[in-house]
Amino acid sequence: MQYRDDHRTGTRISALGLGCMRLPGYLSGHIDLRAAERVLSTAIAEGVNYFDCAYTYRGVEAAVGKLVERNGWRDRVLLATKLPHGSCRASEDFDRIFTASLERLRTDHVDYYLVHNLSTLAQWEHVRALGIEAWAARQKAAGRIGSFGFSFHGSFADFEELLDAYDWDFCQIQYNYANETYQAGTRGLKLAAARGLPVFVMEPLLGGKLAGGLPPEAQGVLRAAAPGGKEDALWSSPAAWGLRWVWDHPEVTMVLSGMGAPEQVTANCAVAERALPRTMTEREHAAVARALAVLERTNKVPCTGCGYCMPCPQGVDIPGCFSAYNASFALGRMTGMQQYLTASGALTDHPRLITQCVRCGACAKRCPQGIAVPDRLAEARRRLQPRVVEPFFGLVRRLRG
Ligand code: SF4
Ligand code: SF4
Repeated sequence: MQYRDDHRTGTRISALGLGCMRLPGYLSGHIDLRAAERVLSTAIAEGVNYFDCAYTYRGVEAAVGKLVERNGWRDRVLLATKLPHGSCRASEDFDRIFTASLERLRTDHVDYYLVHNLSTLAQWEHVRALGIEAWAARQKAAGRIGSFGFSFHGSFADFEELLDAYDWDFCQIQYNYANETYQAGTRGLKLAAARGLPVFVMEPLLGGKLAGGLPPEAQGVLRAAAPGGKEDALWSSPAAWGLRWVWDHPEVTMVLSGMGAPEQVTANCAVAERALPRTMTEREHAAVARALAVLERTNKVPCTGCGYCMPCPQGVDIPGCFSAYNASFALGRMTGMQQYLTASGALTDHPRLITQCVRCGACAKRCPQGIAVPDRLAEARRRLQPRVVEPFFGLVRRLRG
């Protein structure tokens, strides 16, 4: 495993961190503990020493806490979790939420504590007025928090304001080769690093879009430029290209990947081992740029599949619908429609069709990518569920009884 330094604390952090919100079963609401244990134990064995959780990731803190305690891993792993600022109405809420996180994680301290999805100065001013600065200082002095930072999904201008607003220990940004000028972007990465902040990266593969979700034409571009040839499949996969691109930046301290299977952990660790800063060649960067150009032609909705917008009160599988919509451009309309049939359960007794959306807007408020979800769903409906096919869905459901 490659390790990089948190210069503020001197901590050695594995270049690859485990994002725990894609542990097996998470998306269906029940983490499969035995399968999750295999993921975590593989990560530990491969040298990963950073586990990323959040108070709002249903069941994640409790699962990770249980497995870390059961296996005696606490001294081998840096635990991170996050405070949902929107749930803080009074200063007591900081203690209430943080205490619950510690209890679920079965620990007396977290190494990294983040204000979750802090994306505007107004959000920071809200928690600052409730006394978060003094609260964080007390927790750090008492050894309950190691480093205090924030995760971010706003604009570059917002990011700059937030960096100025407080003496952060670290920050976490979305960053990948498709997002160089989106959110904090490359400017934000360099600005934070220039101020001496460790920068943790999330969404290095844009929710899988830069891995298995890359259009075949873009995959072909990368394959043709693969450095290792056929015999080095791991190093040449689209996922490896995406991760290597992020690690190529010396300003990046650690890259989180939401890994849901031991094989995925092993594959990503093999890449992390070799992907040192500034080792990609100009030719390789040019190949990534060409693959990105192909992706941008087909990626209609910038949904990462994070699931923050879920659950929809009407049962719409929002990320599933957007994934199918994008696939209908990248892989062909029929493929997209087939994916939509599966994601929406269109032919089952419990369909989750786009047409069930009542435009309440709850999802859009929670989307870190700023997607106007109801409008974009309406667009997706026109392509995936044109009115002409609706009687067909009903007919199949009736025939199935
Ligand atoms: S706007 Fe539509 S998709 Fe979004 S939460 Fe409301 S009903 Fe669900
Ligand atoms: S619509 Fe937004 S919140 Fe929902 S899964 Fe996609 S990126 Fe995440």
